[in-house]
Amino acid sequence: MSDKLPTIILVGRPNVGKSTLFNRLTGTRDALVADLPGLTRDRQYGTAVFEHRAFVVVDTGGLMPESQDPLAALAEDQARLALDEADHVLFVVDARSGCTPSDEAIARYLRRLGKPLTLVVNKAEGQPPAQAAADFFRLGLGEPQAVSAEHGHGLPALLRRVLADLPVVAAEPADEDGVVRVAIVGRPNVGKSTLVNRLIGEERLLAADVPGTTRDAIVVPFAYEGRPYQLIDTAGVRRRARIWEGVEKLSIVKTLQAIERAHVVIAVVDAQADIGEQDARLMGLIAQRGRAMVLAVNKWDGLTPDAREQVRYQIGLKLPFLDYAPTLFISARHGSGLGELMRAVQAAYDSTMRELPTGEINRVLEQAVEAHPPPAVLGRRIKLRYAHQGGRNPPRIVIHGNQTEKLPAAYKRYLANRFREAFNLTGVPLLLSFKTGD
Ligand code: GDP
Ligand code: GDP
Repeated sequence: MSDKLPTIILVGRPNVGKSTLFNRLTGTRDALVADLPGLTRDRQYGTAVFEHRAFVVVDTGGLMPESQDPLAALAEDQARLALDEADHVLFVVDARSGCTPSDEAIARYLRRLGKPLTLVVNKAEGQPPAQAAADFFRLGLGEPQAVSAEHGHGLPALLRRVLADLPVVAAEPADEDGVVRVAIVGRPNVGKSTLVNRLIGEERLLAADVPGTTRDAIVVPFAYEGRPYQLIDTAGVRRRARIWEGVEKLSIVKTLQAIERAHVVIAVVDAQADIGEQDARLMGLIAQRGRAMVLAVNKWDGLTPDAREQVRYQIGLKLPFLDYAPTLFISARHGSGLGELMRAVQAAYDSTMRELPTGEINRVLEQAVEAHPPPAVLGRRIKLRYAHQGGRNPPRIVIHGNQTEKLPAAYKRYLANRFREAFNLTGVPLLLSFKTGD
């Protein structure tokens, strides 16, 4: 079993269907996103799960813009980084337009790149696969795989073919005797390494930093206030990269790797810098995966009361969907606030892994409905009959009733809040699904 999530990247000229394919592959997360108000999906990076295996999907969107020389656009840091990190390239072409000169240019580039590659002929619905593929053999990239991203045709076959040569990574982090796996993510320079140092001590980090330690996710055991933890550490890799390259770049793929392997993610932001879109985006990725999360606002030292007020305001403004993540103000440099931070991590773990007793779930549901019944729709009252836990990490509660599809979002939020309070859930999204059975 590997620790590193395989990464599949979508490449191709505009309009061939890359983002449709991306949505199809990562779409299982849509339910989750719908339940987290204010969360926008990341249209370029996502985690997908197929037959219990997890992998990262990257849509290079900006890699081949229409107006520019497609290959010049590769200079874009993130796109190049993503292509570097990819384990497999899906080169998407369009069955309807046939093979074009741009396809040929991209094919030449990809041949030089020498990455494992599958040629995907999209929009192939309504014609025999062999016919859809025929025009593309001349690209010299092996046998094309005909699919329809819009209709979902051919995708299981495509994924089985692609995943056959990639490491198997289970879709959930290993659960070893209740030991919490923690990942620390954030933009460069927010203080992640300093925090890691504080939490696990110089000695451990040095051990992880030994040359030759090239794995992307290193699991470093450590104890804090007598409790065992495991840190998903990319710091060893990061620190060496910084020595050689000077400036560190944010790797979203590595961030996704760490999120995937962790039970609880500590999202770090810098109180002494602008809290911005990139912070929100990283947190969106954590939320999208349904991971337990704690927000650590670092560098809280040396700020005037006014400046602190301003930071709190910025957080409320820029990270509005984060009503599920508790916010902790820390100074990694001085070691302040870390006890509370780790207690919040522990509470988030306990919340996300908890078994919720069916009897209690139903008691909470009953009381919630009694205190504030669901509205009537066209004279018929929406009925909520019984509920049970549908999964954990993140916790999901399934509620059975009738006309549940007509429940207003505000009422769903009301119910979610009642469950949250009753079970003291912190640091996790709570998912509600509804089943109508009348
Ligand atoms: P991108 O620019 O490569 O990301 O392409 P998009 O995913 O935005 O798709 C471009 C257009 O092709 C959209 O209008 C899609 O609805 C359409 N499209 C995508 N996949 C298919 C497909 O499998 N069949 C058909 N007929 N159209 C598709
Ligand atoms: P990383 O890139 O996220 O790993 O960030 P580093 O841990 O390398 O820290 C970046 C810079 O911020 C370094 O100069 C640290 O000394 C500084 N720094 C880290 N934590 C704190 C803190 O709590 N307070 C202050 N004032 N500076 C900090």
